[in-house]
Amino acid sequence: MTVRVRIAPSPTGNLHIGTARTAVFNWLFARHHAGTFILRIEDTDEERSRPEYTENITTGLKWLGLNWDEGPFFQSQRLDLYKQAVQTLLDKELAYRCYCTSEELEEMRAAQKARGQAPRYDNRHRNLSPEQQAAFEAEGRKPVIRFLIDDNRQIVWKDLVRGTVTWRGSDLGGDMVIARSSEAGEVGQPLYNLAVVVDDIDMQITHVIRGEDHIANTAKQILLYEAMSSTVPEFGHTPLILNQEGRKLSKRDGVTSISDFQKMGYLPEALANYMTLLGWTPPDARKEIFTLEKVAPQFDFDRVNQAGAKFDWDKLNWLNSQYIHRIAADQLCDQLIPYWQGRAMSLM
Ligand code: GLU
Repeated sequence: MTVRVRIAPSPTGNLHIGTARTAVFNWLFARHHAGTFILRIEDTDEERSRPEYTENITTGLKWLGLNWDEGPFFQSQRLDLYKQAVQTLLDKELAYRCYCTSEELEEMRAAQKARGQAPRYDNRHRNLSPEQQAAFEAEGRKPVIRFLIDDNRQIVWKDLVRGTVTWRGSDLGGDMVIARSSEAGEVGQPLYNLAVVVDDIDMQITHVIRGEDHIANTAKQILLYEAMSSTVPEFGHTPLILNQEGRKLSKRDGVTSISDFQKMGYLPEALANYMTLLGWTPPDARKEIFTLEKVAPQFDFDRVNQAGAKFDWDKLNWLNSQYIHRIAADQLCDQLIPYWQGRAMSLM
């Protein structure tokens, strides 16, 4: 089997350290197995996606040395493929149109909350008769499309990082929306879980390696693979990057985008090296200065920790200094000039 992995950023912001670290792990895994690393831009959210973010992401990945073998593919150019998949699920009666209004959904959630239950869609439009559908359509309601989720299902997979993971169908929030509302009879804008599965099947992804915030999505996506009669890939969920207080690293902690690290004077080799250590322990813990190429043969998921990885500025600064020390004086001078100029400008 040839390993095929992907990084699938959404261009709704600059390249984030968390996405970049996931890209590093995918890249290392691909190189270790002489596999293929694919870049896919997940830009189906028309309102929030911006070309300048795509530019920032691709520039940042290249700057870090994370060259991709295929892509970039853009989900916005593949909408027909997703719509076809939704139609197939409708034809197989594994998906259906739900005509609930946002007020009805709101009311339903409020009632669940009042009963002390977790909010979920109660599958109320799962078995509408043609007459009921026609009546809703006559009212001018625009349906979303939902995928059936069996509450009684146990979803189990062997995660590359976390071992056996088990989810109950009943914990997935009820039948899931896979396409936004549209005129009756049409298929609206397809949503994340659907598009990802269609793409991962089409691009023959063998290992889906992404942040642990996607675990619940994985459970839903496994059901979609089954519905599309496709082989389920392997999954690996990488630990979150945490701040010093042990909470998820966020904008409030200061710099989180790769272009900002670059502006601060971090070298790409040092940052890539540091990100590799965010959640992965090298076989020889004393040898922690390496290039991505050098470390790729040693990289595997057995040594990726389950616990969140604390971001350690001192360690990053120390690593950066190690790389700076290795630069010849004249080259270092050339590299420093833009920073000095920038500093001078800021003092003017
Ligand atoms: N677009 C998703 C994100 O940026 C990708 C998730 C995935 O890798 O499936 O979080």
